[in-house]
Amino acid sequence: MPVKETYWEPHIELMSRKEMQFLQLKRMKHVLKYVYDRVPFYKKRFDEGKVKPSDLRRLEDLRKFPFTTKDDLRQHGVPYGILAVPRARLINFQMSSGTTGRATIYPYTRRDIELWANVMARQLVCCGVRPGDIMVNCYGYHLFTGGPGTHLGAQRLGVAVIPWGAQRTEALVEALRERRATVIAGTPSFLYHVTEVMKGVDPERDFDLRVALCGAEPWTPAMRARLNERFALRSRGGGARDYYGTSEMIGPGAGSECFVEQGIHFWTDHFYLEVVDRETGEPLPPGEEGELVFTHLSREAAPLIRFRQGDVTKVLDDGCECGRVFPRIAAIKGRADDMIIYKGAKFYPSQIEAVLLKFPEAAQEYQIVVDKTGATPLVTVRVETDRADEGLEDRVRSAFLNELLVRPEVEFVKQGDLPRFEGKAKRVVVKQ
Ligand SMILES: [Zn+2]
Repeated sequence: MPVKETYWEPHIELMSRKEMQFLQLKRMKHVLKYVYDRVPFYKKRFDEGKVKPSDLRRLEDLRKFPFTTKDDLRQHGVPYGILAVPRARLINFQMSSGTTGRATIYPYTRRDIELWANVMARQLVCCGVRPGDIMVNCYGYHLFTGGPGTHLGAQRLGVAVIPWGAQRTEALVEALRERRATVIAGTPSFLYHVTEVMKGVDPERDFDLRVALCGAEPWTPAMRARLNERFALRSRGGGARDYYGTSEMIGPGAGSECFVEQGIHFWTDHFYLEVVDRETGEPLPPGEEGELVFTHLSREAAPLIRFRQGDVTKVLDDGCECGRVFPRIAAIKGRADDMIIYKGAKFYPSQIEAVLLKFPEAAQEYQIVVDKTGATPLVTVRVETDRADEGLEDRVRSAFLNELLVRPEVEFVKQGDLPRFEGKAKRVVVKQ
């Protein structure tokens, strides 16, 4: 472990696994009783499943308790239908970006906001941000969680934040230069867009950027390489790092990569982690890919029990060079619902992106159109480029075949023709 590595809460982050399990069990017993006593939805659910909070003696007993799904939340009316505190105790609301289905609103008490600031500060330190840094925050500032969560954590840590949002890209390049920003936070697609407009900038001479905080959507190793290179992050000992959390969890603040950059440490002292088989719901061992399920161990306003997040990942449970006790999960491939099935092959939009990034002349912005109006579905990848030569379409299609075992259609469009996104990029269009 490099001596320079530091921790926000070393007494927790460097615990032994046994100590962590002890802490989790104590919190889990508390939260099950807390929701059973206060939230009619959970009392009914547990009663129907014939389980009581006192049935939990070991952590593994959690699997006896029922899942909570997105449909449950919609049907029972988030935010008030699952509230565990009087409404007057709420001090904040945020919204999910509605990646799948209608957007939902989540409530926070003062203690939840404290928790959010703290887990975000932990996350920033884990990514390599330090007090005294200057951050340009390009996550959106409104009901979405990315902007406010990152802002809270940065201020808690002692980082000066420039609350920019995902807009005015050319002025942003100037701000990076003039304010000598050391950290940039935003969706990978937006940060990529920034690298597109910074013509004539020498990132080693004109910028001081060291860390890019990338979250809210799946991204690829090729995208990481490109951001590292175009912002010259490696020359200052940093890098582009993955950053995780969903609005159901708390917003960003559920975990992040460390300097090792091999998977996301998940903050399991606050968000108990399971990965389950999507069909059977059975918990899977480390190394097996399934759906991420979490249980809030310390939220106050509306804790969720065994919430099926829908994100596809696996646990990489083999310790980490940084010494943190928290297990790592593999980079999120996408929502289980985002998976595209085409001519028998299954793939995620992030895999399309990985292929396109191998083509510097075609990797600008893309959109996947799934046309289900005909007899058989047709998948077309629309790619922005101003440099399409005659053989490009064939080369891209063969690369798809190599990677995805199937060859979607390719259509080239002019640069700037596809939509840009302020929050999470919506790259799949389904025609029914
Ligand atoms: Zn680590």
